[in-house]
Amino acid sequence: MTEDYEHYEAVVVGAGPGGAAAAATLARNGVETVVLERGVDAGSKNVTGGLIYAEESAPYTIDGIFPGFREHATERPVTDYYIHNIAGEQVRTFDITDGHEQDTEWADAVLRRKMDSWMARQVHEITRETGGGLLTEVKVNGLLEEDGEIVGVTCEELDPIKADFVVAADGVNSELAREAGLMDWEEPEEWFQGVKAVVDMPGDTINERFGIADDEGEAHLFSGDLYDGVRGGGFLYTNQDSLCIGNVFHLDSIVEEEAEVQDLLDALLTHPVLAQWLGDDYDEREYSAKLVPDSKKAANPSPHQGRLVLVGDAGGQMQAQGPIIKGMNHAVTAGALAAEAFVEARSRGEPDSAGERYERRLHDEGVMAKLRPARYEVASALGENDTTTRLAERALDSSVGRLGVRMADRVGLLERAYSSPYLATMMPDTKTPYVTLPTIIGEELGATVEAESTVELPSLEERIGDLTYDTDVGNPHIVVEDNSFEASGAAVTACPVSAMDYGGGCYRDETVQSNGDEKRVVSLDTQPCVECGTCAIVADTQWEHPRGGKGVEFREG
Ligand SMILES: Cc1cc2nc3c(=O)[nH]c(=O)nc-3n(C[C@H](O)[C@H](O)[C@H](O)COP(=O)(O)OP(=O)(O)OC[C@H]3O[C@@H](n4cnc5c(N)ncnc54)[C@H](O)[C@@H]3O)c2cc1C
Ligand code: SF4
Repeated sequence: MTEDYEHYEAVVVGAGPGGAAAAATLARNGVETVVLERGVDAGSKNVTGGLIYAEESAPYTIDGIFPGFREHATERPVTDYYIHNIAGEQVRTFDITDGHEQDTEWADAVLRRKMDSWMARQVHEITRETGGGLLTEVKVNGLLEEDGEIVGVTCEELDPIKADFVVAADGVNSELAREAGLMDWEEPEEWFQGVKAVVDMPGDTINERFGIADDEGEAHLFSGDLYDGVRGGGFLYTNQDSLCIGNVFHLDSIVEEEAEVQDLLDALLTHPVLAQWLGDDYDEREYSAKLVPDSKKAANPSPHQGRLVLVGDAGGQMQAQGPIIKGMNHAVTAGALAAEAFVEARSRGEPDSAGERYERRLHDEGVMAKLRPARYEVASALGENDTTTRLAERALDSSVGRLGVRMADRVGLLERAYSSPYLATMMPDTKTPYVTLPTIIGEELGATVEAESTVELPSLEERIGDLTYDTDVGNPHIVVEDNSFEASGAAVTACPVSAMDYGGGCYRDETVQSNGDEKRVVSLDTQPCVECGTCAIVADTQWEHPRGGKGVEFREG
């Protein structure tokens, strides 16, 4: 009997930036709000690069919603921004601070455990005043329905909860969006995979090696030939006393190239260009990974159904604006807009119209236009096909093309192009901008890096061993539906804690004998899983989150 269930005006699922912004805005407007988070602490399941942006054009910024945010929850402001084009040991660097500062009020480096748990404490205080609060270690496992209408959520650890408004801020692997049929999980080209290392470094060493003060920070981006042709790029961000270093690649490219993603991270970490900063005392605090949606293809233009709204990654709202990645700020905006839509709908006595109002606001405030830029639709239709790519690659790699690159650099055109948000939003998802052009720039214009890398990196086994898990033995959250290598083999390499030649990760490639025949199959052990979501897209699986509080616990994120 659903009448017996506890009822709140609003239930928010997930305490990332999207959920925190939604919950705080709802509660400040007097809406009785409960927030459910599956991690042992907010942020313990989350990974970002990560720079959080406050955009001048955005209707909401995180420090507007949480006063004191920059003082308490972030690492350093980013004051300098560079892109490095790499060809072997030759590197050509451009200063792209101008591009980064366009439409940016500020941008700070963050670590998610610190950021999310600080926000969660504020959210708990604010929502408690409405009769709600924030509960951790509660995994929402479905939508509660009555006569075919969504009326709340079901949880593994609690009785179902009824609500007039359900905010799915449950991130990239949103089970609620999936259940409501609002998320298309089919295509690897709609996703990026991020893999990252948090590297320990005292604050004064960071200041000295990067030539910055305590209140300054740097962002470095990397592309070129160090990734074996995989489309994407690397990043390095300075924190207070650590560095975040990682790669974000198109998932379809990882699959096509059968790339071992931990090797690609190592290729960046051991490149001589990083030696100037890393020195030889390398101490990796955490290895992590997560999938992110490519909003250009995945952002749902109508992210609601009945009382349910999707915000942030759950709605595919993660924007890659060329090399600049913006997901957290859009999650914040969307969370606040959704909350505002419900408050308005309720005040007009039409709470069920909140979803429609939210959709309208996403469009009216220009959020949808940023997430799915019309010029990308046109540019991709023209530029993302094999013939155009082949022609562009051939032209660039010709003597005339190379001369053009040199001329463009001489008049400052390349640096301006890298700094142009206009061009960045229409960058085609082909090898040309990610691999070929940066490599040619490195070859034609680069200087040889003198430093030599001496870092000793941990093995995959050590990386897995250093992570914290509360294992859920006997309760696998992933089931391989088809274990043939053809159906699920891509997961063996694309899983960030598995590798072809390493037997201890999640996915393994095995040859088994059956009835005299040999069969190549995939086997799975989810105990070391970092819950990135990759195999849900590249393999034939049934995928869900582990129970509340179970699975991996990130300490940095
Ligand atoms: C390597 C990498 C680099 C990135 N770099 C940047 C960057 O520099 N700048 C930027 O802005 N963005 C960046 N992003 C993207 C950014 O991290 C995301 O877009 C952002 O975190 C989305 O926020 P969210 O609130 O929608 O979801 P999340 O932050 O994923 O939060 C979802 C929350 O919901 C909880 N949850 C999930 N399911 C359930 C459930 N069933 N029940 C209860 N709780 C649940 C999770 O535990 C989590 O706390 C990067 C991402 C990666 C992986
Ligand atoms: S098993 Fe799947 S979800 Fe877990 S780490 Fe590997 S690819 Fe990611």
